Amino acid sequence: MSKGETASRGMRSLSDILSPEQLAENFAEIAPPLSTDAALLEANKCLMCHDAPCTIACPTHIDVPAFIKKIASGNMRGSARVILDANPMGHSCARACPVEVLCEGACVLNDRDEQPIRIGLLQRHATDWALQHKYQPFTPGKPVNKAVAIVGAGPAGLSCARDLRRFGYEVTIYEERDQPGGLNTYGIAEYKMRQPLALAEAMMVLELGAVFKPGVRVGRDVTMEHLKKNFDAVFIAVGLGATRRLGIPGEELAGVSDALTFIEHLKSNPHNRTPIGRQVVVVGAGNTAIDAATQAKRLGAERVTLVYRRGAEDMSAYNYEQELARTDGCEFRLNTVPTRILGSGKVTGIECARSELGAPGADGKRAFKEVANSTHVIECDQVFRALGQTPLADLAKMFDLRVDGSRMVCDNPKVLVGGDCGSGGAEIVNAAADGVQAAKRIHALLSQ
Ligand code: SF4
Repeated sequence: MSKGETASRGMRSLSDILSPEQLAENFAEIAPPLSTDAALLEANKCLMCHDAPCTIACPTHIDVPAFIKKIASGNMRGSARVILDANPMGHSCARACPVEVLCEGACVLNDRDEQPIRIGLLQRHATDWALQHKYQPFTPGKPVNKAVAIVGAGPAGLSCARDLRRFGYEVTIYEERDQPGGLNTYGIAEYKMRQPLALAEAMMVLELGAVFKPGVRVGRDVTMEHLKKNFDAVFIAVGLGATRRLGIPGEELAGVSDALTFIEHLKSNPHNRTPIGRQVVVVGAGNTAIDAATQAKRLGAERVTLVYRRGAEDMSAYNYEQELARTDGCEFRLNTVPTRILGSGKVTGIECARSELGAPGADGKRAFKEVANSTHVIECDQVFRALGQTPLADLAKMFDLRVDGSRMVCDNPKVLVGGDCGSGGAEIVNAAADGVQAAKRIHALLSQ
């Protein structure tokens, strides 16, 4: 679905359905910030543990007790510095990290059957302060007269750029899109983080002096040979490619598109410019599927159904995300395999069969087979695919990288890979950690 394509498909206009006030309410922040008093109260509950498990659980190992202690003493600059020193994407992580399974999940207060410290909200309190006050805690390092190219301005690329600038390297970031931030800018659900905040966070990195080249696709506008010849090292952080296709008849019908493109359209336009069907089916069971489903409902879809071929215990979406979709009124059809999309020119329904699950295969996922005579139809006028993304295989070939499953791998020590293209898809905080580690490895390599 390209920008504007939804409109050409004759879907109802949202302005006919929900008022601007209703849309604003539906997309209001899901987790409001802490007031100063509430933040002080929360910070003072922290036990300031030695060898804090919350710090160990964070992929970027933010010194959680240190930043919380600084909030408790009113030292907002110091607190923001501690967070951002470890994690250049500390602000977006405060809003979009799965804290329940990371820092807050590891908080010792869970063992006492008490509520864990609300680390995510405290981190947000400090990083909001930094953005509001345009506080830049860092300065570029003394020039070392070496240059690094970064391909991709998402969380991994930006994190690597920030730390390389602190080490004194010249950094050039090539980005295919117009704006920096990657999925922070184009892929986080609207009620978690808006585009201006993602861009402000990216600007905090770029103002340290990295050269940002938007609208440039390496491989098309700049060759890999050029990068290898003109830079001392290259960090590839291009993310992932297209969403996997369903591979069933009818996928080409109008009204069938991928969930990420829908989310991007919603994030890049006023809410009333993303038309939505009355009856929406989302195929998939990951966090992107949940984001698409909840946002479709909040845009005014009357019925939203998530279809997944395996069972609840196989879903990769976090429990709290699943709960959010249920609270929003989305319906789950588990053990349900799409077999055909129905319609003439435009989708009118999706034919499915029930599935029976077997033992886990080599990939750890349970095998399934369709149950005989279980075919049924879910009526719908819009279908979103949310089956995960494929690696950018063409780009990998061009860069002389190996593709190992969903991951790109490089054997050249001066060409590093990180973020989603190196992991196959993970959280923002993992991408930030990759970028920070890549900067350290490049620095170690080029300092020899
Ligand atoms: Fe504070 Fe909990 Fe971390 Fe201990 S584990 S330092 S109580 S947030």
